[in-house]
Amino acid sequence: MGKCREAGAALRRRTARAVAALERRFGVPEWDGPEPPLDALVRTVLSQSTSDVNSGRAFDALKEQFPTWDEAFAAGPEAIEAAIRAGGLARQKSRRIHDLLGWVKERFGAFSLDAVQEMPTEQVFETLLPLDGVGVKTVAVMLLFACGRDCFPVDTHVHRIVRRVGLVPATASAERTFHLMKPLVPKGKALSFHVNLLTLGRTLCRPTDPKCPECPLRGMCDYAAGRA
Ligand code: SF4
Repeated sequence: MGKCREAGAALRRRTARAVAALERRFGVPEWDGPEPPLDALVRTVLSQSTSDVNSGRAFDALKEQFPTWDEAFAAGPEAIEAAIRAGGLARQKSRRIHDLLGWVKERFGAFSLDAVQEMPTEQVFETLLPLDGVGVKTVAVMLLFACGRDCFPVDTHVHRIVRRVGLVPATASAERTFHLMKPLVPKGKALSFHVNLLTLGRTLCRPTDPKCPECPLRGMCDYAAGRA
């Protein structure tokens, strides 16, 4: 038990050093401000298995065609599918979005998820996770970016990097990584760490051939130590 606590403290210190090293290299990202949580959730459903550019285009096209969620729901899944075709997997995502809108209306009495702003974080997860196509990452992204909560999402870049660094076991799934990282990320640093890890994952710590000699985390990274 004592050893576990010690290991936990060491991991927390290593995580804090990683946060600081990334801020020195990439700066301290600023929050863009609030967004309607339902917009953020739909945006995240559209981002699954496609690039940010494609999902952004699909979201803009959807909002252009249906300025309100009432209109999108009334138009039906086929019309949503036609609007989001640029984003890939349009058939599957259009049904998910239509189902999501229907559930939100039934649960909250309006096409709005603003009520989650008043809920404790754990309750938001309990409420939204049973929905088809809505996972831990989707909810965490919504809470961080739309609601400004100090919640640390684990996307594909974050998952790869924190396992390489050794903050979580190499075999940890994305969902387990989310739970393991929760107590490690310093208070108030979820946005900074998440955004800077994305930048690192897109530039240096890419899936293949990571550029360790140029990386600000090289002195604390298990993967880099193994390579050396
Ligand atoms: S040192 Fe290499 S493996 Fe480790 S985080 Fe940096 S780029 Fe990735």
